[in-house]
Amino acid sequence: MNIRSKTNQVTVKNIKIGGNDEIIIQSMTTTKTHNIKETINQITKLANAGCQIIRVAVLGYEDANSLKEIVRLSPIPVVADIHYNFHFALDAIKAGVHKLRINPGNISDPKQLKEIVIAAKIARIPIRIGVNSGSLPRDLVKKYGVSEKSMIEAAQRHIDILEKFNFHDIVLSLKSSDPMMAIKCYRTASKKWKYPLHLGVTEAGSVFNGAIKSAAGLGVLLNEGIGNTIRISLSGDPIHEIRACKTLLNSFKLAKNIPNLIACPTCGRIEFDMLPIMEAIEKYLENIRVNINVAILGCPVNGIGEAAHADVGIAGGRKGGLLFKNGKVIKTLPQEKLLEALKQEIDIIVKEKEKLIY
Ligand code: SF4
Repeated sequence: MNIRSKTNQVTVKNIKIGGNDEIIIQSMTTTKTHNIKETINQITKLANAGCQIIRVAVLGYEDANSLKEIVRLSPIPVVADIHYNFHFALDAIKAGVHKLRINPGNISDPKQLKEIVIAAKIARIPIRIGVNSGSLPRDLVKKYGVSEKSMIEAAQRHIDILEKFNFHDIVLSLKSSDPMMAIKCYRTASKKWKYPLHLGVTEAGSVFNGAIKSAAGLGVLLNEGIGNTIRISLSGDPIHEIRACKTLLNSFKLAKNIPNLIACPTCGRIEFDMLPIMEAIEKYLENIRVNINVAILGCPVNGIGEAAHADVGIAGGRKGGLLFKNGKVIKTLPQEKLLEALKQEIDIIVKEKEKLIY
Protein backbone atom coordinates (compact mmCIF):
# COMPACT_ATOMS: atom_id res chain seq x y z
CA MET A 1 0.00 0.00 0.00
CA ASN A 2 1.47 3.39 -0.91
CA ILE A 3 1.78 6.42 1.36
CA ARG A 4 -1.23 8.20 -0.14
CA SER A 5 -3.61 5.39 0.80
CA LYS A 6 -2.49 5.44 4.43
CA THR A 7 -3.41 9.06 5.20
CA ASN A 8 -6.51 10.19 7.05
CA GLN A 9 -9.54 10.84 4.90
CA VAL A 10 -11.62 14.01 4.70
CA THR A 11 -14.93 14.47 2.94
CA VAL A 12 -15.57 17.46 0.70
CA LYS A 13 -19.27 17.15 -0.18
CA ASN A 14 -19.27 13.93 -2.26
CA ILE A 15 -15.49 13.73 -2.72
CA LYS A 16 -13.08 11.91 -0.45
CA ILE A 17 -9.52 13.20 -0.13
CA GLY A 18 -6.99 10.80 1.30
CA GLY A 19 -7.19 7.27 2.64
CA ASN A 20 -7.32 5.79 -0.85
CA ASP A 21 -5.38 5.68 -4.08
CA GLU A 22 -7.33 8.40 -5.86
CA ILE A 23 -5.85 11.82 -6.59
CA ILE A 24 -8.40 14.60 -6.75
CA ILE A 25 -7.95 17.35 -9.36
CA GLN A 26 -8.49 20.92 -8.16
CA SER A 27 -8.31 24.41 -9.58
CA MET A 28 -9.15 27.96 -8.60
CA THR A 29 -11.39 30.44 -10.39
CA THR A 30 -9.89 33.63 -11.82
CA THR A 31 -13.17 35.55 -11.99
CA LYS A 32 -14.32 38.04 -9.40
CA THR A 33 -16.18 35.75 -7.03
CA HIS A 34 -19.04 38.25 -6.61
CA ASN A 35 -19.66 38.04 -10.35
CA ILE A 36 -21.75 34.93 -9.83
CA LYS A 37 -22.59 34.41 -13.49
CA GLU A 38 -18.99 34.51 -14.68
CA THR A 39 -17.79 32.46 -11.74
CA ILE A 40 -20.35 29.71 -12.32
CA ASN A 41 -19.61 29.71 -16.08
CA GLN A 42 -15.94 29.19 -15.33
CA ILE A 43 -16.61 26.51 -12.70
CA THR A 44 -18.89 24.64 -15.12
CA LYS A 45 -16.26 24.71 -17.87
CA LEU A 46 -13.61 23.48 -15.45
CA ALA A 47 -15.89 20.74 -14.10
CA ASN A 48 -16.65 19.57 -17.66
CA ALA A 49 -12.90 19.43 -18.32
CA GLY A 50 -12.32 17.20 -15.27
CA CYS A 51 -11.94 19.54 -12.29
CA GLN A 52 -13.32 17.83 -9.17
CA ILE A 53 -13.07 20.58 -6.53
CA ILE A 54 -13.00 24.33 -7.10
CA ARG A 55 -11.63 27.09 -4.87
CA VAL A 56 -12.88 30.66 -4.96
CA ALA A 57 -11.20 33.68 -3.40
CA VAL A 58 -13.22 35.55 -0.76
CA LEU A 59 -11.82 39.05 -0.53
CA GLY A 60 -14.75 41.07 0.74
CA TYR A 61 -18.39 41.04 1.81
CA GLU A 62 -19.61 41.01 -1.78
CA ASP A 63 -17.72 37.77 -2.36
CA ALA A 64 -18.84 36.27 0.94
CA ASN A 65 -22.46 37.14 0.14
CA SER A 66 -22.22 35.43 -3.26
CA LEU A 67 -21.12 32.09 -1.87
CA LYS A 68 -24.57 30.72 -1.12
CA GLU A 69 -25.61 31.07 -4.74
CA ILE A 70 -22.27 29.76 -6.02
CA VAL A 71 -22.56 26.69 -3.80
CA ARG A 72 -26.12 26.15 -5.06
CA LEU A 73 -25.18 26.41 -8.73
CA SER A 74 -21.75 24.79 -8.75
CA PRO A 75 -21.62 21.27 -10.18
CA ILE A 76 -18.59 20.47 -7.98
CA PRO A 77 -17.67 21.11 -4.32
CA VAL A 78 -16.64 24.67 -3.50
CA VAL A 79 -13.74 25.72 -1.28
CA ALA A 80 -13.63 29.25 0.14
CA ASP A 81 -10.15 30.78 0.23
CA ILE A 82 -9.97 33.19 3.14
CA HIS A 83 -7.24 35.30 4.66
CA TYR A 84 -7.33 37.52 7.74
CA ASN A 85 -11.06 38.21 8.08
CA PHE A 86 -12.73 35.65 10.31
CA HIS A 87 -16.23 36.99 9.51
CA PHE A 88 -15.81 35.81 5.92
CA ALA A 89 -14.89 32.35 7.14
CA LEU A 90 -18.04 32.19 9.28
CA ASP A 91 -20.15 33.57 6.41
CA ALA A 92 -18.65 31.00 4.04
CA ILE A 93 -19.51 28.15 6.40
CA LYS A 94 -23.06 29.51 6.76
CA ALA A 95 -23.30 29.73 2.96
CA GLY A 96 -22.63 26.00 2.81
CA VAL A 97 -19.12 25.87 1.32
CA HIS A 98 -17.68 22.39 1.37
CA LYS A 99 -14.20 23.24 2.64
CA LEU A 100 -12.18 26.20 3.89
CA ARG A 101 -8.66 27.19 3.01
CA ILE A 102 -7.17 29.40 5.65
CA ASN A 103 -3.85 30.07 7.26
CA PRO A 104 -4.62 29.84 10.96
CA GLY A 105 -1.59 32.07 11.53
CA ASN A 106 -3.33 34.86 9.59
CA ILE A 107 -6.20 34.94 12.04
CA SER A 108 -4.34 35.91 15.16
CA ASP A 109 -7.18 36.19 17.69
CA PRO A 110 -7.56 32.74 19.30
CA LYS A 111 -11.23 33.44 20.09
CA GLN A 112 -11.97 34.14 16.43
CA LEU A 113 -10.10 31.08 15.33
CA LYS A 114 -11.98 28.97 17.86
CA GLU A 115 -15.26 30.22 16.43
CA ILE A 116 -14.22 29.22 12.92
CA VAL A 117 -13.09 25.79 14.01
CA ILE A 118 -16.28 25.15 15.98
CA ALA A 119 -18.41 26.26 13.02
CA ALA A 120 -16.41 24.05 10.63
CA LYS A 121 -16.81 21.12 13.01
CA ILE A 122 -20.58 21.59 13.25
CA ALA A 123 -20.83 21.94 9.46
CA ARG A 124 -18.54 18.89 9.10
CA ILE A 125 -16.26 20.55 6.61
CA PRO A 126 -12.50 20.20 6.42
CA ILE A 127 -9.95 22.98 6.59
CA ARG A 128 -6.90 23.12 4.38
CA ILE A 129 -3.87 24.63 6.01
CA GLY A 130 -2.05 26.30 3.15
CA VAL A 131 1.61 26.96 3.95
CA ASN A 132 3.22 29.02 1.21
CA SER A 133 6.92 29.82 0.77
CA GLY A 134 6.01 33.41 -0.10
CA SER A 135 4.14 34.14 3.12
CA LEU A 136 5.99 32.38 5.91
CA PRO A 137 5.94 33.83 9.43
CA ARG A 138 8.69 36.46 9.74
CA ASP A 139 10.33 34.93 12.80
CA LEU A 140 10.76 31.61 11.00
CA VAL A 141 12.26 33.27 7.92
CA LYS A 142 14.64 35.15 10.22
CA LYS A 143 15.63 31.95 11.95
CA TYR A 144 15.79 29.47 9.05
CA GLY A 145 15.40 31.56 5.89
CA VAL A 146 12.86 30.42 3.28
CA SER A 147 13.61 26.74 3.68
CA GLU A 148 12.13 23.33 4.23
CA LYS A 149 12.65 23.83 7.94
CA SER A 150 10.62 27.03 8.09
CA MET A 151 7.85 25.52 5.93
CA ILE A 152 7.54 22.43 8.14
CA GLU A 153 7.70 24.53 11.31
CA ALA A 154 4.97 26.83 9.96
CA ALA A 155 2.80 23.82 9.15
CA GLN A 156 3.40 22.41 12.64
CA ARG A 157 2.30 25.69 14.22
CA HIS A 158 -0.92 25.74 12.17
CA ILE A 159 -1.63 22.09 12.89
CA ASP A 160 -1.05 22.68 16.61
CA ILE A 161 -3.61 25.50 16.58
CA LEU A 162 -6.30 23.33 15.01
CA GLU A 163 -5.45 20.25 17.04
CA LYS A 164 -5.66 22.33 20.21
CA PHE A 165 -9.34 22.74 19.38
CA ASN A 166 -9.54 18.99 18.75
CA PHE A 167 -9.99 19.60 15.02
CA HIS A 168 -8.46 16.92 12.79
CA ASP A 169 -10.39 17.29 9.56
CA ILE A 170 -7.27 18.76 8.00
CA VAL A 171 -5.72 18.83 4.54
CA LEU A 172 -2.21 20.20 4.31
CA SER A 173 -0.33 21.97 1.54
CA LEU A 174 3.27 23.18 1.57
CA LYS A 175 3.63 25.11 -1.63
CA SER A 176 6.96 26.47 -2.69
CA SER A 177 7.90 28.19 -5.91
CA ASP A 178 11.00 26.00 -5.94
CA PRO A 179 10.10 22.46 -7.06
CA MET A 180 13.11 20.98 -5.23
CA MET A 181 11.97 22.54 -1.97
CA ALA A 182 8.40 21.37 -2.58
CA ILE A 183 9.71 17.80 -2.96
CA LYS A 184 11.60 17.99 0.33
CA CYS A 185 8.68 19.56 2.23
CA TYR A 186 6.06 17.09 1.02
CA ARG A 187 8.36 14.13 1.62
CA THR A 188 8.90 15.25 5.21
CA ALA A 189 5.21 16.01 5.70
CA SER A 190 4.21 12.57 4.43
CA LYS A 191 6.41 10.98 7.10
CA LYS A 192 5.51 13.40 9.89
CA TRP A 193 1.71 13.67 9.64
CA LYS A 194 -1.22 11.50 8.66
CA TYR A 195 -3.12 14.39 7.12
CA PRO A 196 -3.90 14.16 3.39
CA LEU A 197 -1.60 16.28 1.24
CA HIS A 198 -2.64 18.82 -1.35
CA LEU A 199 0.25 19.01 -3.83
CA GLY A 200 1.26 22.17 -5.62
CA VAL A 201 4.16 24.31 -6.76
CA THR A 202 3.23 27.93 -6.23
CA GLU A 203 3.84 30.86 -8.59
CA ALA A 204 4.82 28.28 -11.17
CA GLY A 205 4.40 30.74 -14.03
CA SER A 206 3.17 30.64 -17.62
CA VAL A 207 1.40 27.60 -19.02
CA PHE A 208 4.61 26.25 -20.55
CA ASN A 209 7.09 27.01 -17.75
CA GLY A 210 4.62 26.37 -14.96
CA ALA A 211 3.52 23.00 -16.31
CA ILE A 212 7.13 21.84 -16.62
CA LYS A 213 8.09 23.13 -13.16
CA SER A 214 5.04 21.52 -11.58
CA ALA A 215 5.58 18.25 -13.43
CA ALA A 216 9.21 18.18 -12.32
CA GLY A 217 8.37 18.67 -8.65
CA LEU A 218 5.03 16.93 -8.35
CA GLY A 219 5.96 14.08 -10.67
CA VAL A 220 8.66 12.96 -8.27
CA LEU A 221 6.19 13.00 -5.38
CA LEU A 222 3.42 11.23 -7.28
CA ASN A 223 5.87 8.54 -8.29
CA GLU A 224 6.76 8.02 -4.62
CA GLY A 225 3.11 7.55 -3.75
CA ILE A 226 2.80 10.96 -2.09
CA GLY A 227 -0.13 13.34 -2.59
CA ASN A 228 -3.91 13.02 -2.36
CA THR A 229 -5.07 16.03 -4.31
CA ILE A 230 -3.35 18.23 -6.82
CA ARG A 231 -3.48 21.69 -8.28
CA ILE A 232 -1.09 22.79 -10.98
CA SER A 233 -1.05 26.58 -10.62
CA LEU A 234 -0.63 28.30 -13.98
CA SER A 235 -1.08 31.91 -15.02
CA GLY A 236 -4.06 32.54 -17.29
CA ASP A 237 -7.17 30.48 -18.03
CA PRO A 238 -7.44 27.76 -15.34
CA ILE A 239 -8.61 25.27 -17.96
CA HIS A 240 -4.90 24.75 -18.67
CA GLU A 241 -4.45 23.67 -15.05
CA ILE A 242 -6.93 20.84 -15.53
CA ARG A 243 -5.28 19.72 -18.76
CA ALA A 244 -1.87 19.76 -17.08
CA CYS A 245 -3.15 17.85 -14.01
CA LYS A 246 -4.77 15.21 -16.18
CA THR A 247 -1.71 14.77 -18.35
CA LEU A 248 0.56 14.53 -15.33
CA LEU A 249 -1.65 11.98 -13.58
CA ASN A 250 -2.02 10.02 -16.82
CA SER A 251 1.76 9.88 -17.19
CA PHE A 252 1.93 7.95 -13.92
CA LYS A 253 -1.18 5.87 -14.70
CA LEU A 254 -2.87 7.58 -11.79
CA ALA A 255 -5.82 8.98 -13.69
CA LYS A 256 -9.07 7.14 -14.06
CA ASN A 257 -11.13 7.36 -17.23
CA ILE A 258 -9.08 10.06 -18.87
CA PRO A 259 -8.16 9.94 -22.58
CA ASN A 260 -4.55 9.84 -23.62
CA LEU A 261 -3.43 11.58 -26.81
CA ILE A 262 -0.28 10.32 -28.45
CA ALA A 263 1.13 12.58 -31.14
CA CYS A 264 4.37 12.20 -33.02
CA PRO A 265 6.81 15.11 -32.72
CA THR A 266 6.69 15.52 -36.56
CA CYS A 267 9.76 15.59 -38.77
CA GLY A 268 10.71 16.01 -42.42
CA ARG A 269 8.67 12.94 -43.34
CA ILE A 270 5.37 14.57 -42.37
CA GLU A 271 2.70 14.15 -45.04
CA PHE A 272 -0.21 16.24 -43.86
CA ASP A 273 -1.09 19.37 -41.92
CA MET A 274 -1.07 17.61 -38.57
CA LEU A 275 -1.07 20.38 -35.96
CA PRO A 276 -4.61 21.74 -36.53
CA ILE A 277 -5.94 18.16 -36.42
CA MET A 278 -4.03 17.45 -33.23
CA GLU A 279 -5.43 20.59 -31.59
CA ALA A 280 -8.97 19.75 -32.72
CA ILE A 281 -8.70 16.22 -31.30
CA GLU A 282 -7.14 17.47 -28.08
CA LYS A 283 -10.18 19.68 -27.62
CA TYR A 284 -12.55 16.88 -28.62
CA LEU A 285 -11.09 14.59 -25.97
CA GLU A 286 -11.41 17.19 -23.22
CA ASN A 287 -14.93 16.23 -22.25
CA ILE A 288 -14.53 12.49 -22.65
CA ARG A 289 -14.45 10.40 -19.48
CA VAL A 290 -13.11 7.07 -20.64
CA ASN A 291 -9.66 5.63 -20.81
CA ILE A 292 -8.94 5.78 -24.55
CA ASN A 293 -5.59 6.05 -26.36
CA VAL A 294 -5.71 8.13 -29.51
CA ALA A 295 -2.72 8.53 -31.82
CA ILE A 296 -1.96 11.17 -34.44
CA LEU A 297 1.05 10.58 -36.61
CA GLY A 298 2.58 12.60 -39.39
CA CYS A 299 3.32 9.69 -41.69
CA PRO A 300 2.95 5.92 -41.81
CA VAL A 301 6.68 5.10 -42.08
CA ASN A 302 7.28 4.34 -38.43
CA GLY A 303 3.88 5.60 -37.52
CA ILE A 304 1.54 2.74 -36.99
CA GLY A 305 4.16 0.58 -35.33
CA GLU A 306 4.95 3.44 -32.95
CA ALA A 307 1.29 3.74 -32.01
CA ALA A 308 0.36 0.07 -32.08
CA HIS A 309 -0.99 0.29 -28.52
CA ALA A 310 -3.42 3.08 -29.41
CA ASP A 311 -7.11 2.22 -29.59
CA VAL A 312 -7.48 4.37 -32.66
CA GLY A 313 -5.41 6.79 -34.67
CA ILE A 314 -4.57 8.42 -37.94
CA ALA A 315 -1.39 8.77 -39.95
CA GLY A 316 -0.77 11.10 -42.87
CA GLY A 317 0.00 9.36 -46.16
CA ARG A 318 1.06 10.39 -49.63
CA LYS A 319 -1.93 8.84 -51.34
CA GLY A 320 -4.36 9.59 -48.54
CA GLY A 321 -4.30 9.32 -44.77
CA LEU A 322 -4.68 6.12 -42.85
CA LEU A 323 -7.21 5.42 -40.15
CA PHE A 324 -6.10 2.62 -37.87
CA LYS A 325 -7.59 0.77 -34.94
CA ASN A 326 -5.69 -1.49 -32.52
CA GLY A 327 -2.63 -1.34 -34.75
CA LYS A 328 -4.43 -2.29 -37.99
CA VAL A 329 -5.31 0.01 -40.89
CA ILE A 330 -9.07 0.01 -41.36
CA LYS A 331 -9.45 2.76 -43.98
CA THR A 332 -7.50 4.98 -46.37
CA LEU A 333 -9.10 8.38 -46.69
CA PRO A 334 -8.46 11.76 -48.32
CA GLN A 335 -6.56 13.92 -45.82
CA GLU A 336 -9.50 16.30 -45.39
CA LYS A 337 -11.74 13.47 -44.19
CA LEU A 338 -9.35 12.18 -41.54
CA LEU A 339 -10.50 14.43 -38.71
CA GLU A 340 -14.19 13.53 -38.97
CA ALA A 341 -13.43 9.84 -39.44
CA LEU A 342 -11.25 9.83 -36.35
CA LYS A 343 -13.94 11.58 -34.29
CA GLN A 344 -16.50 8.99 -35.40
CA GLU A 345 -14.24 6.11 -34.40
CA ILE A 346 -13.52 7.78 -31.06
CA ASP A 347 -17.29 8.05 -30.45
CA ILE A 348 -17.76 4.34 -31.18
CA ILE A 349 -14.98 3.30 -28.81
CA VAL A 350 -16.16 5.70 -26.10
CA LYS A 351 -19.68 4.23 -26.24
CA GLU A 352 -18.28 0.70 -25.96
CA LYS A 353 -16.05 1.64 -23.02
CA GLU A 354 -18.83 3.58 -21.29
CA LYS A 355 -20.97 0.46 -21.29
CA LEU A 356 -18.22 -1.29 -19.34
CA ILE A 357 -17.90 1.55 -16.80
CA TYR A 358 -21.55 2.29 -16.06
S1 SF4 B 1 5.48 9.56 -37.46
FE1 SF4 B 1 6.46 10.20 -39.38
S2 SF4 B 1 6.32 12.42 -39.33
FE2 SF4 B 1 5.97 11.75 -37.27
S3 SF4 B 1 7.99 11.84 -36.34
FE3 SF4 B 1 7.68 9.74 -37.02
S4 SF4 B 1 8.61 9.71 -39.05
FE4 SF4 B 1 8.33 11.88 -38.53
